[in-house]
Amino acid sequence: MLSKKIEEAINNQINAEMWSAYLYLSMAAYCHELGYSGMANWYEIQFKEEQDHAKIFYNYIVARGGRVVLKAIDAVPTEWKNPLDMVEETLKHEQKVTALINDLFALATKEKDFATQSMLKWFIDEQVEEEENARGMIDSLKMIKDNGYGLYMFDKELAARTYTQASPLTKEE
Ligand code: MG
Repeated sequence: MLSKKIEEAINNQINAEMWSAYLYLSMAAYCHELGYSGMANWYEIQFKEEQDHAKIFYNYIVARGGRVVLKAIDAVPTEWKNPLDMVEETLKHEQKVTALINDLFALATKEKDFATQSMLKWFIDEQVEEEENARGMIDSLKMIKDNGYGLYMFDKELAARTYTQASPLTKEE
């Protein structure tokens, strides 16, 4: 059985992942507005990935016989100064999510909940990747500055990203 404390913390994490999904969909819309369809594609895939994260936590609560409680999703920002500002906010956001996952792991450790610790390992690794991806985009945009050809190539590169379902969900069906 899940302790009430862990159950509540995971329910909060479902909400945080759904908020992330909502944030990235808002960023995708902003990219479309600027005409960066490749970058929009990247954020639309990110939107799907965040929904996967929420579903993994949802499945975990169900598997442990807990109770899923879905809460209201807060509004997200809709505008940024420029693409660089947006990707910098992406990194800041992912760093916050990393801290949430770390807090969850610390709680599971304190409560001697080994199954939850094991489930969270996938997320700990995932956060390393999320932060690395955001940092990579920041580095590219800083290098490119206002170079039109550079921006064109960067957008083309992000257009090539394809969605793959998160591995903990692939065993589902
Ligand atoms: Mg996430």
